[in-house]
Amino acid sequence: MWIDVHTHINMLERDEQSVLAAAREAGIERMITIGTGRDDHPRVVDMAERLKPWVFGTLGVHPHEAKDWTEQDEVYMRQHLRDDRIVGVGEIGLDYYYSHSEHDVQKTVFRKQMALAAEFGLPVEIHTRDAETDTVEIIKEFDGRVRGLLHCFTGSQWLADQGLAHGYNISISGVVTFKNADALRTVVKSIPLDRLHLETDAPFLAPVPHRGKKNEPAFLVHTAQVVAELKTVTIDDLARATNENAHRLFAKLN
Ligand SMILES: [Zn+2]
Ligand SMILES: [Zn+2]
Repeated sequence: MWIDVHTHINMLERDEQSVLAAAREAGIERMITIGTGRDDHPRVVDMAERLKPWVFGTLGVHPHEAKDWTEQDEVYMRQHLRDDRIVGVGEIGLDYYYSHSEHDVQKTVFRKQMALAAEFGLPVEIHTRDAETDTVEIIKEFDGRVRGLLHCFTGSQWLADQGLAHGYNISISGVVTFKNADALRTVVKSIPLDRLHLETDAPFLAPVPHRGKKNEPAFLVHTAQVVAELKTVTIDDLARATNENAHRLFAKLN
């Protein structure tokens, strides 16, 4: 069985029962649906509760939404971070590719949420794009107090090495199946099997052979196939390893 550690089920705009049925048919037995801000937090909380036992959730304000951060977001997160079905803080981080929010604002909101993760003893799901130096700097500030994963990893070998050195796992999305992703495939080969996760980031980034279509958790298997080949392990060994990794990182996952 597989675990999709980063997906956005509320963004699929499809009947959630048919999404779940297709996922389970493909062997994806657990999905973590990720919060991005005030607008989807109540939906994440509701889905994680309603779609038991398949779906868990995280709460966090995405760097794109950092400009809209208010104390109310923190109040809401504090109310729900102890819920049984809310397994982490995310997605949080820095995105200097789109820069929808000022960089200083992104850093402030990232730090606030890293502090929340430390306080609540929860792992984080970090989104980082074109912001490697600042991301590593902030990760270091919370060394030993926060663990987590770098989601939808597309960074450099340096970022992967820094993340691993500071206790972060690396999560691989469908990008690894893209024709132009040789650099990422080289990085994947270097990641220890006990530090790897798989995700879809659905509805974004559908893997080959579904590239260009709307992604969904069931498509995780195509990413798994490519990662198993890169790691020269059987598909069963990869399933077992990524499963154990997810359970080790997300204590509330069951
Ligand atoms: Zn992201
Ligand atoms: Zn995401």
